[in-house]
Parts: sequence; C-alpha cells; structure tokens
Amino acid sequence: MTSTVWIQEMTWEEIQEKIDAGAKIVLLPVGSTEQHGPHLPVGTDTMVAAALAEAAAREASVLAAPPLWFGWSPHHMVLPGTITIRPEVLIELLYDIMASLSHHGFSAFVVINGHRIVNISWLQIAAERAKRTLGVNVALFDPAYMSKEMVRNMGWGEIGHAEEIEGSHMWHCYPELVKMERAKDNPHQHPSLYHVDPGYPGDTLCYVPSTVSEQKQSVLPFGGTSGEPGKASPEGGKKYHEHLVHRLVEVIRMLQEKTP
Ligand SMILES: [Zn+2]
Repeated sequence: MTSTVWIQEMTWEEIQEKIDAGAKIVLLPVGSTEQHGPHLPVGTDTMVAAALAEAAAREASVLAAPPLWFGWSPHHMVLPGTITIRPEVLIELLYDIMASLSHHGFSAFVVINGHRIVNISWLQIAAERAKRTLGVNVALFDPAYMSKEMVRNMGWGEIGHAEEIEGSHMWHCYPELVKMERAKDNPHQHPSLYHVDPGYPGDTLCYVPSTVSEQKQSVLPFGGTSGEPGKASPEGGKKYHEHLVHRLVEVIRMLQEKTP
C-alpha cells in the first residue's frame, strides 16, 4: 500500500483503490513561477502551497493533485525566471483539472492559493464554474486570509513580496533553497493609497497593474523584494506553517461534512 498523498506518485490502480475506499476530496495546490528576490527560489509560491497540501493531506487522509506551477505574474516580468500565464488560461486549466478528477469519481476540491491576491479572482471563477457544471464542491484556501491574526501576533509586517512571511515559511519548509544572507529589506511605504493586505486596516483590495518599465523603478533597487525579509526566522515559519495546516484540515473536515 502506497504511503504518498500525491496522485502523481501513485499508479492508476492505487488511485482506483482510494476511490473505491470512498476518497472524495483532492487538494489542488496552485502557485506561480516568479522572481522572489535574491534569497528565495522562483518556485516559492508553488512550493509553499505544495508543503501545506502535503502536510494537511497526510493529517486528514486525503489526496493531493500535482501542483500547478504557473500563475498570473505580469507584475514580476522585470526579472528572469518569471513565467506568467493569462488569467483565461489559468481558469481553463484549473477547471479541466477538476473536470478530469471529477470524471473519475472525486467530488470535492480544496484549491490552495500560494500566489496570494492576484490569483484569487481566477480561482474563484474556475471554482464557481466547476461547482455549477460538474456538481462538485470546491473550497478556496488562501494562506494570507487564513493567517491574518497570527501574522500580526508574530510581529511581522504587512504582506509584500518575498518578505518575512514567505521567507520564514520557506526557511522552515525548504531550508536548503533559502539564501537569507542575500536578502535586502525594503520596508513598506505607508502613505500609499493602494495597499493589498487582508490583515491591514488600510487594505484597499485593489491591484494596480504595472508595466515592466515601472517595475524597473519600483522593484529593481531591492532585487525584487518588498517588505522585510530580515525579520524572517525558521521558528516563525514553523509556527506559521502549523497554523495554516491546522486551518486547512478544518476546511477539509468542513468539506467532508458537506459532501455526501
Ligand atoms: Zn510569493
């Protein structure tokens, strides 16, 4: 009997056994491949979503689908390694993944968003369509929204990019891939009219598009970082990770109750 939670590591016979034994829920980690400063790998968003998926799948005895490594990242195209896909492609891709898994008998999905605010709209559209046309249950799990209080209690700053939150999480989950000595702090500038962070009272929930030439001015001086990765720690990352795994398991349990 296989001990992995990852569908891509199983044979079709092992997957069939799970379905026959009543498996209904699949976790779908969705991230991005985009620059994350000089200290974190470009796969950070996908890696953190996959780490949460793996831990929660193990704890709740459900399966996880292969991570989706690409998201909508036009705002990071200024630095190499960034791969952006169009929102319509992302919606179709996620929908097709749920349609395929539903065809074989899975009936509920938790989409784990490792790519924060900019991916949420597209995930919502795919989730709504899947529920309406496939008759499946779908929950979205966004780590930023699910950790608002604890991030504040940790003394971390607001959400930026490759900041202390992502830095800590990666440091705990993938220490061999983190180069914290290369990190450059870029503290938040508060007078801004636009600020996206669900835990911040000044949140405007408004994404402001930027061209590559605008990114050159705003992003390049700090190597692609926004926030203060200097405050990151592997201990903080462990607490953050455990908090999110706990909440993700709660979401899975809720979905199990809702799915016959
Ligand atoms: Zn990120």
